[in-house]
Amino acid sequence: MILAIDIGGTKLSIAAFDGPCMARRESRATDAAGGRDWMLAQIREIVTAWQRDFTFERCGIGFGGPVNFAAQRVVLSTHVGGWRDFDLCGFVSSLIGAPAIMDNDANVGAIGEAEFGAGQGFSPLFYMTLSTGIGGGIYADGRIWRGADSYGGEIGHMTIRPDGPDCLCGARGCFERMCCGLWLQRDHGKPAKELMQEPAFVERYVVDLALGLKAAIMLLNPQRIVIGGGIGKAGDRLFLPLRAELRRQITSWSGARIDVVPAALGDDSVLYGAAALAVLPPA
Ligand SMILES: [Zn+2]
Repeated sequence: MILAIDIGGTKLSIAAFDGPCMARRESRATDAAGGRDWMLAQIREIVTAWQRDFTFERCGIGFGGPVNFAAQRVVLSTHVGGWRDFDLCGFVSSLIGAPAIMDNDANVGAIGEAEFGAGQGFSPLFYMTLSTGIGGGIYADGRIWRGADSYGGEIGHMTIRPDGPDCLCGARGCFERMCCGLWLQRDHGKPAKELMQEPAFVERYVVDLALGLKAAIMLLNPQRIVIGGGIGKAGDRLFLPLRAELRRQITSWSGARIDVVPAALGDDSVLYGAAALAVLPPA
């Protein structure tokens, strides 16, 4: 069996896979105040209980924050304290007595959608998670393109409004600052899910959303863009105006396709990707 772990800003999900089939799954809301120790205790509790039924041969992890892939260390978490330079794979590996491998959750989500979801057969594929924060993953020719230092695809902190409001990263007007769920809620006083029901709001929102996605389209000419995360579930209410706005913003001489679709695996893109990452040949 393969153990898959998705550590996000708002929830922790764990699944057991038998090949490509998910055999068991459990999800818990993240206790941000509990920090790293709380999260590790949850993982230990769930995995220890499952070990009565399963033997895990490998583990894949998607972590909600920057990961140094070459060193296999968490860089830090912007949502939860205590993760800086943490050897998460070492912790999980000693728990299950088998190897573990991790990457940031956007890259892992990209693998999940590319191998099992809406990105199957599309290369290059750009995957974007649009939820509490924004992350991106570039998947081409059967592997993730990570760049020189594991930071490839980090579209969330690209500036789209130079005079925009301050972002948590220290810059202004970042794509994530303008479009992610955390800031939509703070700026507009209601959850993104409700805002996506309001056509007038969506009409304005897709202008910024398209500014960010346009950069990915012009730079990568992806065969397809898959959007996951909570806001990606808004359906045609979001995707129809978004495609129209992209067509408006992208210069007419560019023949780059505008193929933007929601994730097919819903909340489980990262879990499927983690299971696939665990058995992929080393990058
Ligand atoms: Zn930023």
